[in-house]
Amino acid sequence: MNETKSSCCYCGVGCGVIIQSEGERIIGVRGDPDHPANFGRLCTKGATLHLTARTDLRAMHPELRVSREETRKRVSWDEALDHAAGRFAQIIHEHGPDSVAFYISGQLLTEDYYVFNKLAKGLIGTNNVDTNSRLCMSSAVAGYKATLGMDAPPNCYEDIDHAACLFIAGSNTAFAHPIVYRRIEDARAKNPALKIIVVDPRRTDTAAAADLHLAIAPGTDIALYNAMLHVLLAEKMVDRNYIAAHTEGFEAIERTARATTVEQAAAICAVKAPDIITAARWFGAAKATLSLYCQGLNQSSHGTHNNAALINLHLATAHIGRPGAGPFSLTGQPNAMGGREVGGLSNLLSAHRDLANPAHRAEVAKLWGVPDVPAKPGKTAVELFGALASGEVKAVWIACTNPAQSMPGQDQVRAALQNADFVVLQEAYRNTDTAAYADLLLPATSWGEKEGTVTNSERRITRVRAAVPAPGEARADWAIAADFAQRLGAALAASSPQVSGRDAMKLFAYTSTEAVFNEHRESTRGRDLDITGLSYAMLDKAGPQQWPLREGETSGRKRLYENGLFPTPSGRARFVDAKHLAAAECADADYPLLLNTGRLRDQWHGMSRTGTVARLFSHAPEALLAMHPADMASRRLAHGDIVKVRSRRGELAVGVEASQELQPGQVFLPMHWGSQFMAGAGANALTSPAFDPFSKQPELKLAAVAVEKFELPYEIVALARLTGMAGDPSGGLALTATLQPLLQHFDWASLGLFGRDEDFLVMHARCAKAPAAAVLAAMDSALRLDDKDALLSYSDAARGISKKIRFAGGHILAVRLAGETRAAAWLQEAMLDGVAAPELWRFALAPLATPPVARAPRGRIVCNCLDVSENEIASRLTQGASFDDLQATLKCGTSCGSCAPELKRLCVERGHRLGAAA
Ligand code: SF4
Repeated sequence: MNETKSSCCYCGVGCGVIIQSEGERIIGVRGDPDHPANFGRLCTKGATLHLTARTDLRAMHPELRVSREETRKRVSWDEALDHAAGRFAQIIHEHGPDSVAFYISGQLLTEDYYVFNKLAKGLIGTNNVDTNSRLCMSSAVAGYKATLGMDAPPNCYEDIDHAACLFIAGSNTAFAHPIVYRRIEDARAKNPALKIIVVDPRRTDTAAAADLHLAIAPGTDIALYNAMLHVLLAEKMVDRNYIAAHTEGFEAIERTARATTVEQAAAICAVKAPDIITAARWFGAAKATLSLYCQGLNQSSHGTHNNAALINLHLATAHIGRPGAGPFSLTGQPNAMGGREVGGLSNLLSAHRDLANPAHRAEVAKLWGVPDVPAKPGKTAVELFGALASGEVKAVWIACTNPAQSMPGQDQVRAALQNADFVVLQEAYRNTDTAAYADLLLPATSWGEKEGTVTNSERRITRVRAAVPAPGEARADWAIAADFAQRLGAALAASSPQVSGRDAMKLFAYTSTEAVFNEHRESTRGRDLDITGLSYAMLDKAGPQQWPLREGETSGRKRLYENGLFPTPSGRARFVDAKHLAAAECADADYPLLLNTGRLRDQWHGMSRTGTVARLFSHAPEALLAMHPADMASRRLAHGDIVKVRSRRGELAVGVEASQELQPGQVFLPMHWGSQFMAGAGANALTSPAFDPFSKQPELKLAAVAVEKFELPYEIVALARLTGMAGDPSGGLALTATLQPLLQHFDWASLGLFGRDEDFLVMHARCAKAPAAAVLAAMDSALRLDDKDALLSYSDAARGISKKIRFAGGHILAVRLAGETRAAAWLQEAMLDGVAAPELWRFALAPLATPPVARAPRGRIVCNCLDVSENEIASRLTQGASFDDLQATLKCGTSCGSCAPELKRLCVERGHRLGAAA
C-alpha cells in the first residue's frame, strides 16, 4: 500500500489527509497527524473521501454536440479543444472580448485558477472571469479590504487556544467547519472560563453549546454590532490609545453607535436588550476576543457592511494583532483563498492587486509579458448569468462548479444557460445539473488524481498530490485551460487584432504544475501575500506554510498586524460607518415566512461527490424544510407532510419537519439537494439574486416564502441493491444517473442512498394521481424489473396499485411499489440487514406496515463512524445516560467527533448530565 500526503477537497478548514492506495486504486484515507490544520483528525466527510474514489459517475472523455437538437457524442481532445477555440474566436471576433466569460470554482487548485485568470485577462482581454467563491466569501474580501486594507485573514487556528472569548457569527461551525469546532471543544475543555457567544437566527448545535446565543432576526447583524459598540463606548471599554495610534474614521461610526441604543437594536434584532449588553461586555472585557464568521454575514445584500461592522468592534477594542484576538473569516470552500490570491475574480488582479489601479494593471501586464490587461470590471456571478440571459455574453466556460444548482434564482439561471450560444463544462462528474446544458463536456481530474496547492482559511498553503492516475481521458484543470489558450491564441491571431503582441504558445507553455506555481509566486513579490520564499520543495520538506513567506524566510507568519501597521495608504486601519439596512425582501401577507438556507453536517455543496457515499445519507436521508412547530400547527402540518414552498421567483415541493432550532416565522432548507436528488431545482429555486453593492455577493440566506400543505395521495417507492446490480459491471451507482431524470416527472420526489457495507438506492415519489404508464415503465426498465427472471409482481389496475420485486442469489435486488407502499420501510431495513429473500417474498407485495420478521427500525444515524442510531441513543437517554455514558457504552462520538455536539444537545434537551468528558 502506498501513502500519499494531500489535502481534503471539501471545506476551507483545509485538513491534511494521507491517501492510501494500491496500484491505481484509492483504498483508504486517514488524517495527516503532521498537518497543522487538523493534526490527524478528519470529520465525517473527510474520513469517507476514499469511498468517493469511484468512476461510475465520472466524465471519462470529451463529449460534444454541435446543435442543441443532438445529444453529445464522444470526441477526441483535439476535436473538442479545436472546436471550442473556433467557437470562442468566432464570438470574440464578432462581438468583442466581453462576449465570452469564464465561471470557475473555489474547488480548483491555485494553479488551475491562475491559468484561467491569465487566459481571460491576459490573452482574451476580458475580466469576465468569476467564480462560485462570489457566492461564498466575496463580502469577507470586501470587508477586509474596506477596514484592514487588504484581503488577508489576520488569524490562525492556534488563536482559538489563546482566546478568552469566542464570538461566532453567522456560522454553524459544528456542521460547516467540524475540525475547527473540535479545536473549540478542546479550547473549552482546557479553559472552562472561555466565553462563547453565538449570533445566529437558528439554535444550531453550535448555538446550543454557547454560553450566550443571540438568535437575531435574519439580516440584522449591523444593528447588533453597532449596539454592542454603543455599550462598549458607554462603559468605556473601547481602547482610545489603539484607536488614536492605529486607526482612522472612528468619529463617524462613534456617532452612529451612540445613536443606536440597545433598546432600538433589541427591537430590530428581536433579542433581549440585556443579552446585547452581556455580549458587548464579554467581547470588550476579555483578554483576547476572536470572532469566527462565515456565510451568515457574507450571503447578505449588505454583507460587506456586516463584515465591516464586526471588524469595527475588533478595532475599537484592540482585539486584533495579538494571540487569540482578531476577526477570522472562515472560508467555505477548500481553495477560495487561493482564488483570491491569484485575483481569480472579475474585479481583482493577481496577488491582491486592484483592477482599478493603472499601476497594478501595468505590473500584471509586465509579469505576463502582454501589452495590457483590461480595466473594465468583468461580470460578477449574478451579473454574468444575467448577461448570458440577455445575450450580452454569448459563450461561457464553466469549470468545477454547478451553477444550475448553486446560483440563486434557478429559473433565470437555467434559462440563461439554455439561451447561451455555447456552453463548455469542464467537470469531473458527468451528471451534475449543469451538465445537461453543456454543448461541450471536458473530463477533469479530481481529488486523489491532481496536484498543485490550496490555501485554507488561516492563509496556510498545502501541497495537493496525486495518489492514482487520472481515470479515462480526464486531464488536470490547468492543463485543459492552457491547451485551450494556445489553440484559442492561434484562432484569434487569424481574426482579432486584440491578440497582437500576445504569443499564446509562449504565454501558456507550462511544462508542469510547478511551473505555474512558480509564475504565480513571482507575481506576489513585494505584495502583502509575498510567497517568494516558498517552493514545492519547501512544502515537501517542511510541510504546509502560511503566507506571507518572503524570500530568505524559513517560515510563514502566524498572525498579521501585530505591529499595528495596516496595508492602507496611511498605515491605519479604517472604521466603516456601517448602518442598519433592511434586507432586500421582507416577509409580507403573501410570503409570510423567511427562508434561510445552509449546510448539513454530512453533505457537501451540490452532492456530486458526497452523494455517491451511502453512509453520508444516514444522518439526513432527504431534504426537509425545518419549521417551528407553531408555524406547522397553524398550517395543520405534521412531520413528514409534503409542502409547497413558494417565493417570488419559484416554488419547490419538499417534506417538512418540526424544529425547535427555528424561531416562529422562519424556515430552513439545506442547500445540497438539486435536481439530481429531488424533483425541482432545490433551495435555489426560491432564493434571491439580490446582491451586496460592494461585494456583489447574493443574499442566499434570506428569501420571503409561503408554505402550504401539498396533498399528494399517490405514492411510489423504489429500492435497489446497487452492489452487483445485474448488467452493471461498475457496481451500480450509474443506476442513480438513469433514475435521476425521472424525478422531474413527479410532483415531489427524492432520491438517496443507504447502506454501510453495501450500497442501496431509495427513490420516493408522490403525485396527485398515478403517473403515466411510461414513467413507471422507465423506472422498471432502469431497475431491471422488466426482466421476467426471479420476478414477483402484483397489479390491481382498478385501485391503481402495481408492485414488482426481483430476487437474485437469495437477496432482494430491486423493488418498485406504486399506489400502496406500506411495506417499503421494513423492506428497506430488511434489504439493509441482508435478510434472505425466501423469508420475505410471500410478504413483500402485501400491504404490511410491520415486518414479517422481528426488526426494530433503527432510525436516523447520528454517529456515522460507529454507526450508532438516534433510537439507540434515545433508549440509553431514557435510562438516564450521560454524554460520558453514551461514549462509554455505544462509543458514539469517540471517533471523528462530528456527532459530539448533537449528542451533547440531546443530553441537555433531556435534562441529563454531560459528564466530565464534555
Ligand atoms: Fe475536510 Fe472535514 Fe477537514 Fe473540512 S473539516 S477540510 S470537510 S475533513
